[in-house]
Amino acid sequence: MTSLVDGFGRSITYLRVSVTDKCNLRCVYCMPEQGLPWLGRDEILSYEEIGAIVRAAAAVGVRAIRLTGGEPLARRGLGRLVAALTAIPGIEDVSLSTNGLLLEAQLGELAAAGLRRINVSLDTLRAERFEAIARRPGLETVLRGIDGAIEAGLRPLKINCVVMRGRNDDELLDFAEFTRERAVFVRFIEVMPVHENLQLQRDAYVGSDEILARIGEYNDLLPVESPPGNGPARYFAFEGAAGAVGVISPLSHEYCGRCNRVRLSADGHLRLCLFGDRGIDLRTPLRNGATVDDLVSMFRAAMLIKPERHHLRLGESASAMRAFSEIGG
Ligand code: SAM
Ligand code: SF4
Repeated sequence: MTSLVDGFGRSITYLRVSVTDKCNLRCVYCMPEQGLPWLGRDEILSYEEIGAIVRAAAAVGVRAIRLTGGEPLARRGLGRLVAALTAIPGIEDVSLSTNGLLLEAQLGELAAAGLRRINVSLDTLRAERFEAIARRPGLETVLRGIDGAIEAGLRPLKINCVVMRGRNDDELLDFAEFTRERAVFVRFIEVMPVHENLQLQRDAYVGSDEILARIGEYNDLLPVESPPGNGPARYFAFEGAAGAVGVISPLSHEYCGRCNRVRLSADGHLRLCLFGDRGIDLRTPLRNGATVDDLVSMFRAAMLIKPERHHLRLGESASAMRAFSEIGG
């Protein structure tokens, strides 16, 4: 069967699957303090439904799956889903994006289920700042999860760090030091305008050029090759260090031309772009008896409407857009 190629000649090989919209943190750049109008239990795809959609995606050339959310580890029995997805012919890589709070407790099950790689979100190495940014405590728990994942062989482990002026932008070097002894790749990410964070985004945005320039001030940090994975990041490391730091710049240097991904929302919509598209409802046809072949046809049809690029620019208003789970591949 031929692979999925969109109207701009890009092959789609990567599917991000949001398994829940709920989260046990409330990061200031992502969610309002009171949370969101959560989806009802029946609105969320079951693991069996996700499995059917991934089988269809694999049949048309998708090779890598990333589980995300909300907080994916907050959904019960995620190891069961990982095991089911790794068993699908054609799927070569199942990975996870998590805030790390529940990681330590679930590591054994996830590794046994065949999870290959983990991205942990961590914006600060200071406990009081963690609580201010995530609006919940938990730094020590997350750090234990990170070290546990490295010990369990889930490498390379990537850390996603959203850089915000005045909140954590003085920790670039601290994160670099963190990578001297640990096999982790820290990716500094530009804060993007989503949902209700527009004021924060305008006030706290630090572009990747500035981040790179600041990293460049540390003469000991030298450019290195990227670790394997799907993320469009550039990396720097101390000589002899186990890990490295890098930047991802979805806004200032968009990478839409190299986009190889689509994503599945927790309520079963296939979304074709980082921002704003309403997506194609796969849940309704699936619950009305659509087969994997029918889903394959829907994937193919979706390729005709995948946009060329996201239409978000620096400083642009993006009211009510939710770009959940698309950052930091
Ligand atoms: N809860 C999991 C986590 O935090 O890793 C997975 C979902 S989270 C939405 C996925 C990634 O998106 C995280 O690395 C998070 O930092 C990032 N993210 C969320 N909102 C963002 C924003 N406004 N700008 C940049 N990155 C953002
Ligand atoms: Fe939750 Fe991840 Fe959003 Fe933070 S970034 S509120 S951990 S979904």
